[in-house]
Amino acid sequence: MPFQKTNLLGLSPDALTAFFADIKERPFRATQVIKWIHQQGVLDFHDMTNLTKGLRAQLADIAEIKLPEIVGHQISRDKTQKWLLRVDPENCVEMVFIPEDDRGTLCVSSQAGCLVHCPFCATGKQGFRRNLTSGEIIGQLWLAERLLAENQCEPVSLSKTPRNITNVVLMGMGEPLFNLDNVIAATRLMLNDNAYGLARRRVTVSTAGVVPAMDKLRERCPVSLAVSLHAPSDSLRNELVPLNRKYPIKALLDACRRYVSHAPKDKITFEYVLLRDRNDRPDDARQLARLLKGLPAKINLIPFNPFPDAPYRRPRPAAIEVFRNILLAQDLMTITRKTRGDDIAAACGQLAGNKYIA
Ligand code: SAH
Ligand code: SF4
Repeated sequence: MPFQKTNLLGLSPDALTAFFADIKERPFRATQVIKWIHQQGVLDFHDMTNLTKGLRAQLADIAEIKLPEIVGHQISRDKTQKWLLRVDPENCVEMVFIPEDDRGTLCVSSQAGCLVHCPFCATGKQGFRRNLTSGEIIGQLWLAERLLAENQCEPVSLSKTPRNITNVVLMGMGEPLFNLDNVIAATRLMLNDNAYGLARRRVTVSTAGVVPAMDKLRERCPVSLAVSLHAPSDSLRNELVPLNRKYPIKALLDACRRYVSHAPKDKITFEYVLLRDRNDRPDDARQLARLLKGLPAKINLIPFNPFPDAPYRRPRPAAIEVFRNILLAQDLMTITRKTRGDDIAAACGQLAGNKYIA
């Protein structure tokens, strides 16, 4: 076996400390290198000037900092941007940046393809390829920070330092909680002050409902949670989110309650894709309201985004309004998510990176 260099890009602060302990270096080296990589964007060990020359040479021998390769870029009419990233010769994934007045959201992928096979999702239709490494996940944020700085899009000023990316959502391709360890390593870097320093509430993991992994995420890195509910009954959800057969709605909602039990101010976002004549009737809304009553919930209604050969349609605007009003009348905080980037197939559920590979 040829010697495999360790990719330092995706090592969490703890893992990087352990890496340096292995080569008899003190923990502060991990902090220095994290700052070089994630804050300064330096990829060449020889440029890390506060490391000794000997350590720089040693790192160049045994380690690397390897990023996904950018192979495509599109900008939507509404300024949403999408990049196609090659992670290996057979696989590409997509990342999307959505600028708004008061925030800039980066939507990152966690897997090439997806195992869950929701029939309304372009990623699910394409099947599962592989988990992304933590380096491939955090690499998307690394790249987007630099690409947006070069693009000179107007940074949002939230605090002292204006930044382009104020929020990260793991809502791109794949089911993040089927790739838990790598997702946790990447989110820890997102939160780390020596790396990206994002607040816990500004990083959101979206899941189709992998119940045991929700508990682990809460224990190990309790970022914001979004749950893809999409149906108010098990019979309908079994069809729309096949994972429901394994983790039905009651088990899922119990896990949601546990998730916020130690953080009383947190809310769970429930995503509900609206599919015409499938789950968009007033009765569905009433059933949904009963289900979520008493939970610290925000509901995000996502009008279905079409993709080639999709077997569903988006409801009419009036039906969406009726659905939302039923939830609002039950005091459930409900927004209809604006469709962004659909002219470049960058909207929720339209990502299908591998179709670009012959
Ligand atoms: N696998 C995770 C995260 C990625 S999908 C999950 O399912 O939660 C991100 C969101 O987009 C999910 O809520 C998903 O259900 C929704 N989505 C998928 N396909 C869609 C489509 N065609 N139109 C609208 N939303 C869609
Ligand atoms: Fe996978 Fe999420 Fe798409 Fe379902 S909606 S197939 S879980 S990416």
